[in-house]
Amino acid sequence: MSISAEVVVVGAGSIGCATAYALARQGAKVIVLDREAPGAGASFHATGLLPPWQASTDPALNALYDASLRLSRELFPRLQEETGIPLLYQVGEGLRVALRDDQVPLGRELAAAPGLAGAGLAYLDAGEARRLEPRLSPDILGGLWCDGFLQVDSYRYTLALAQAAEGLGVQFQTAYVTGLERQGRRLRGLQTPTGVIPCDRAVLALGAWSAGAGAWLGMPVPVRPVKGQNMRLRWEGAPLPYLMGQIGWGHLIQRGDGYLSAGSTEEEGMGLDASTTAEARDRLMKHALAVMPCLETAQVVQQFAGPRPVSQDGLPIMGPATTLEGVFLNTGHGYSGIFLAAASGRHVADLVMEGRSSIAAPDPFLPARFLPDT
Ligand SMILES: Cc1cc2nc3c(=O)[nH]c(=O)nc-3n(C[C@H](O)[C@H](O)[C@H](O)COP(=O)(O)OP(=O)(O)OC[C@H]3O[C@@H](n4cnc5c(N)ncnc54)[C@H](O)[C@@H]3O)c2cc1C
Repeated sequence: MSISAEVVVVGAGSIGCATAYALARQGAKVIVLDREAPGAGASFHATGLLPPWQASTDPALNALYDASLRLSRELFPRLQEETGIPLLYQVGEGLRVALRDDQVPLGRELAAAPGLAGAGLAYLDAGEARRLEPRLSPDILGGLWCDGFLQVDSYRYTLALAQAAEGLGVQFQTAYVTGLERQGRRLRGLQTPTGVIPCDRAVLALGAWSAGAGAWLGMPVPVRPVKGQNMRLRWEGAPLPYLMGQIGWGHLIQRGDGYLSAGSTEEEGMGLDASTTAEARDRLMKHALAVMPCLETAQVVQQFAGPRPVSQDGLPIMGPATTLEGVFLNTGHGYSGIFLAAASGRHVADLVMEGRSSIAAPDPFLPARFLPDT
């Protein structure tokens, strides 16, 4: 295959497409390679939640969430405008409930910290929460309320990023990358089963498949797949006015296409298995009913499963691969690769083009943090 680009992005999920779009907006000539179609990985069926509370204990990650929420608010309407793809996004109020004792202090703690991107947060007692949504279970102990909660259809978002990038000249090609071609300490190409694709700058955005790049680079890329399942429900009741779920776990939301989304499981040790299970369906239904018993008549119409790319320390892995000049990583976004796509795409594009970032301080996210003795 012969290509000519300043930067090749490998992986066409939300992260790779956001990176390609950001690179192209900076004027770079970009090619995106994926062994499948854009959005075929974890970005296909993520719930697409961008909650406005400080979900991490790490300040650098909370700052990245804040930046991404601000950027996404501006990006979603722009992408719709540029591509004509309805992203089915919504900005609404959230209401997460406590059903267990330990969820009460967590809810209070989240409400006490400043909301991301100026969002308002409050902890409500059970009576106040049920006044907002009388269909909530009588067993709830309280609720975390917020405004400025963003949600998007993750597949449409990924496709829109890809299409907007194409509009700026980015080319998408199908290729399975199996290794890196080097000359000394410098990248010279990408190996594929049909030959080497010459290039001297590449961004690897391989999602849950990233760990294999560690062998190519001779450095650890500690990303493991954590399987998640969610489902869509048809329900004839009045639409849910809040983006709901439990505090610290799960969601129950009315999507822009009218279906309810309920999820998601967290399944360690399942590798890249993407099969759906009856056990997960029953568990998620039980969760939905615990929050809103009136959903008894809801019907499951679709169930999805996919691998979240979770890094060893829970932070994204973004920046140059120190063992091979010209290679950058953008991976390990775990539970938040839709949330963080806008900021992470810009961040890594900045690092590739300028060697510095207008989005975040690079250090906490550098791949080099996993090298021995750093
Ligand atoms: C059930 C569930 C619910 C979720 N809910 C949310 C949510 O509400 N909010 C949120 O922010 N995140 C959520 N996530 C997480 C989110 O889906 C991921 O963090 C995000 O999609 C990761 O994007 P990515 O581009 O890194 O990976 P992917 O979308 O998996 O893309 C990686 C791409 O790399 C390609 N690839 C891999 N290896 C190679 C190779 N060797 N050669 C060529 N191509 C290759 C793959 O084909 C794939 O297309 C959820 C995930 C799941 C499973």
